Amino acid sequence: MNLSDLDYLHGKPLETVAIDRIGNFATKNRPVVVAYSGGKDSEVVLELAKRSGVTFTTIHNICPMDPAETRAWIHQKPYVQFSRPTMSLAEAAAYYKTMPYRDRRWCCRVFKEHAPSGSLVVTGIRWDESPNRNKRRMIEHCRRDMSIHYLNPIIDWSTDEVWTYIFTRKLKTHPLYAQGFRRIGCVNCPLTDYSEAYAKRWPNVTAVWRKLAEYVHTAQTNNPRWEFESPEHLFQAWKSRLYYAPNTETEDLPLLESCGALK
Ligand code: SF4
Repeated sequence: MNLSDLDYLHGKPLETVAIDRIGNFATKNRPVVVAYSGGKDSEVVLELAKRSGVTFTTIHNICPMDPAETRAWIHQKPYVQFSRPTMSLAEAAAYYKTMPYRDRRWCCRVFKEHAPSGSLVVTGIRWDESPNRNKRRMIEHCRRDMSIHYLNPIIDWSTDEVWTYIFTRKLKTHPLYAQGFRRIGCVNCPLTDYSEAYAKRWPNVTAVWRKLAEYVHTAQTNNPRWEFESPEHLFQAWKSRLYYAPNTETEDLPLLESCGALK
């Protein structure tokens, strides 16, 4: 298999089209950031950014729900900068006053979606990943900071095309793929069914979710409508995925679609 096996778009190889997209949107005096999650799609955009000749930095946003393998994998790449969230888990829980649910995935906002002001952030978001992502566009601006733009240069690539590119360019990938995982992301993300097997395999992340239930329960101490008797009661309800966020005084959160759940 070689690169000519990759599909063409408008008469050009997909790789060329994607590189052109990066080159066309990267302007002088504007920092370009590759958002690197450690997954296969960000591996591809990293390679494309390198081949584009554009000057960029590679940033990984640290998330406490990532499996330990992700941190270890990214630490092997000395050029990746680690970016810490501006809020701790306790501060975020005190602010949002609810566990993250499918329709209130505030953890993505806090841990995964921050970027330097004024930057062009290159991501590996693709339509093929989930129905929600069908609404995404190749170039978007951040809803919270209009000076930040997101460029999704492989938005129209299929999963097969991503893997074909990885094999033809001989890119190394996150070790969990070799263990059968199709997506790399957070352990027991609220977008997925709760897995006891994952909870056991990644006890540190399970401890984070439990800690979050404690913080949220504490934040709701004075709420007469709060219906959970203990952090454990809240945690068990959250695990069931049957319960959705109660009304809180926090603003309604818009749907966030840039999550990557471990599958
Ligand atoms: S991927 Fe899931 S668990 Fe991870 S930050 Fe986003 S919503 Fe939260």
